[in-house]
Amino acid sequence: MKFVDEYRDRATVETLTAAIRSTVHHPWTIMEICGGQTHAIVKHGIDRLLPQEITLVHGPGCPVCVTSVELIDRAVAIASRPEVIFTSFGDMLRVPGSSRDLLSVKAAGGDVRIIYSPLDAVDLAAKNPGRKVVFFAVGFETTAPANAMAAVQARRMGLTNFFLLTAHVLVPPAIAAILGSPANRVQAFLAAGHVCTVMGYEEYLPLAASFHTPIVVTGFEPVDILHGILLAVRQLEEGRAEVENQYSRVVRREGNAGARRVIADVFEPSDRTWRGIGTIPMSGYRLRPAFASMDAEHHFDVGHLEAHESPLCIAGSVLQGIRKPHECPAFGRECTPERPLGAPMVSSEGACAAYYRYGALNHGR
Ligand code: SF4
Repeated sequence: MKFVDEYRDRATVETLTAAIRSTVHHPWTIMEICGGQTHAIVKHGIDRLLPQEITLVHGPGCPVCVTSVELIDRAVAIASRPEVIFTSFGDMLRVPGSSRDLLSVKAAGGDVRIIYSPLDAVDLAAKNPGRKVVFFAVGFETTAPANAMAAVQARRMGLTNFFLLTAHVLVPPAIAAILGSPANRVQAFLAAGHVCTVMGYEEYLPLAASFHTPIVVTGFEPVDILHGILLAVRQLEEGRAEVENQYSRVVRREGNAGARRVIADVFEPSDRTWRGIGTIPMSGYRLRPAFASMDAEHHFDVGHLEAHESPLCIAGSVLQGIRKPHECPAFGRECTPERPLGAPMVSSEGACAAYYRYGALNHGR
């Protein structure tokens, strides 16, 4: 298959692996930000191909995993209302809140529906004028354009019964938070190619410079990831800290101007609480005042919510690359995909789910 097979080609993988082996002379810890890359690494055994000197740690790039417990509790409270049709992508339904998840709301008779596009929620609102349709707008910069378009479309249609419960998170402030933490051990980043497809990579330049940390924009196939690692290792060995674009067949420095424009029209940056990590300044999007009437958080008064996590879950450490999933005492015991204690075991992009699914228990590096 053109544009896929060549990025899974065994000979190219072997050439890149040999190049990494001959380049590396010191131990390095590299973080891939994106949960999609984590799954590709574990699924294809890329970490097992690497020399001992290189440790890959997994980042917070799973939007379902980092949506705060407080926001899940808020979603549960809103979805429980009889006048509400609550819509979400499938992964969110099983993410545990403080006491319940959205699936249990659905089981108890709540009108919770899985959709595949935010425009489906707009359509539902148009077809159900007597109900209030809420879309759980979760995601990194990648999904923000489609969610912003849904808000624009709902306004064009004059809908007053469409709402967004916004949980958007942004990559560059998360990188800054990880690098600024005293517990940080990350020395280079593979940045998520699809986020950069939308946003470009100019925002990464000051991060690489001020933290003296290489950042390589990287794709998702085995050849992409190994090439990204090679570029990062070269920089580390040479003492450079630059932004490089491994994914140049897709990503432009300035990103996608149209997508960025629609995001800027609808959203503005705001502080955001990340599950297990805490509040990171200006690391999320909220609706601009012009779209405030669609803000589910303001429209639905759910009273005071007391959020709490499972005391067994160490997802915050996993998401910051401080611990690996198999180092969690609950991994595969109290916490499994069937009975998850934390979001990284639920989500299709979660690191714990990847380790469980692909049997990566012995990935000690
Ligand atoms: S294995 Fe389960 S309990 Fe442990 S960090 Fe992952 S999600 Fe949390």
